[in-house]
Amino acid sequence: MPEKTIFKKIIDKEIPAKILYEDDLCIAFPDIAPQAPVHILIIPKEEIISLAHAEEKHKELLGHLLLVTRKLAEEHGVKDGFRTVMNSGAKAGQSVFHLHIHLLGDREMKWPPG
Ligand code: AMP
Repeated sequence: MPEKTIFKKIIDKEIPAKILYEDDLCIAFPDIAPQAPVHILIIPKEEIISLAHAEEKHKELLGHLLLVTRKLAEEHGVKDGFRTVMNSGAKAGQSVFHLHIHLLGDREMKWPPG
C-alpha cells in the first residue's frame, strides 16, 4: 500500500486538525502554516492527486468544493476579497499530493502571484 498523504490521515482522523467544515464529500481545516490571517484548505475526501488528475466524473465534486469555499469565505468575513489557489504539480509548488483549494483572505494580495 502506498503511504497515505497527510490529508488522507486528516480525513481518516488519524492526525488532528481543527475541522471547520465537513460533509460526505469534503472537509476543510486551517492551513498549519498560514500565509494570510484566513488560510483554509478545502479538500475532497476522494483521493485525487491534483487538478491535473481530475476527470469528467469529478465535475460535480469540483463545483461543490468551490461552493463550500464560497461559504467558508462568507463565514470568515472575507467574502468581499479572497483568493483561491490550487497548486497542481511540484513545479507549481504543490507539496501535498491530494487535490486541495487554498482559501486566503484578510490581507492585501498582489498580482501576479509568485
Ligand atoms: P500545497 O503546497 O499547495 O500542496 O499545499 C499544502 C499545504 O498543506 C501547505 O500550505 C501546508 O502548510 C499545509 N499543511 C501541511 N500539513 C498540514 C497539516 N497537518 N494541517 C494543516 N495544513 C497542513
